[in-house]
Amino acid sequence: MALSTTAPPIGIYCHVPFCASTCDFCAFYQEKPRRGDLDRYLAAMDLEFAQLPQDRVVDTVFWGGGTPGLLAAKDLERLGRSLLKRLPQPPEEWTIEMAPSTVKADKLAVLRDLGVTRISMGVQSFDPKLLESLGRLHNPKQIYTAWERVQAAGFPQTNLDLMFAIPNQSIEQWEADIREAARLGPTHLSTYCLTFEEDTALYVKLSQGKVSIDEAKELRFYERGWELLAELGYAQYEISNFAQPDAECRHNMNTWRMQEWIGCGPSAASQFTGERYQRPANLDEWCTAMELGQPPKTECVTLDHDLLLADSIIFGLRMNRGVDLQSINERFPTASNRAELEGQLKIFEREGLLRSQGSQYALTHRGRLVCDAIGSALLEV
Ligand code: SF4
Repeated sequence: MALSTTAPPIGIYCHVPFCASTCDFCAFYQEKPRRGDLDRYLAAMDLEFAQLPQDRVVDTVFWGGGTPGLLAAKDLERLGRSLLKRLPQPPEEWTIEMAPSTVKADKLAVLRDLGVTRISMGVQSFDPKLLESLGRLHNPKQIYTAWERVQAAGFPQTNLDLMFAIPNQSIEQWEADIREAARLGPTHLSTYCLTFEEDTALYVKLSQGKVSIDEAKELRFYERGWELLAELGYAQYEISNFAQPDAECRHNMNTWRMQEWIGCGPSAASQFTGERYQRPANLDEWCTAMELGQPPKTECVTLDHDLLLADSIIFGLRMNRGVDLQSINERFPTASNRAELEGQLKIFEREGLLRSQGSQYALTHRGRLVCDAIGSALLEV
């Protein structure tokens, strides 16, 4: 099949659903790795990759989890080759998430060889006590060892994930984490406010009154983080994401712009050919379906222009450059909710939460602090 020259490129997300243990805050689908399960997973991923469209350019690939880095070097190689043989051409950006305790030189060599361009490491904090309170398996020494190995392997792009508003974390500790992450010099930093998702160990502690949420303090963490990261040379381009010049994560930007992507693996979400759906968050169920040649879709939503217009604005506003309403309107010409959404944007602008220039709308600093509430209000239009 010939490659389309008109359809925009797509992204591929691969979910690697294995973790050695469960972090206290984690609500992602993951399982403990067992050899039989790993082999079955890799074979089923090969079956899923075989169904990828052959007429679309794939410009970004993202392996997340779970802990992709938990796979042995030979399994990373098998998964990577299995994907590459189904792609019309190698992706321009290929990110792999690795937990510090999983970063080994042989794995990095395989990933470099496959053409991976970006290692994203889930550091969360450099403070041993805070790491312990998150239930993370690694310690600061492992972070530094892993980072040295990543640096030595010479990937063009690197990301470190940090977390803030951790119970008992002070603003000074948050500043120290940011400074230390920046000192290591990754090209990209992601900072996430700790959230209390249902069915997590942290949520249980919250319901038992052992920890609490302090929203005013969360805002101070946000603001101090944004300010300090800018001073340290990391430009904010999305609520939680900061980059040195030309180091933004293109894969994530494509999803915020409501382009198309295909998710492979259990629990992976897709947005493709007019549908948004998920694979089942169950390894056995997903493997069985793939072995039977019946790729299952759960939580399937048909995408119409009303939904895509609203989501393009809601997710687009998360980015600092905001959205160009004219070009979004041109992409979704049959949307019937245009006037209501634009009316709501005008209200936010009068309230000082948004600013506009021509058809370009972006959140102000104050608007970014209440980004989730703005998204919820736009969803209700
Ligand atoms: S390593 Fe990541 S996916 Fe695994 S339990 Fe921890 S937060 Fe969740």
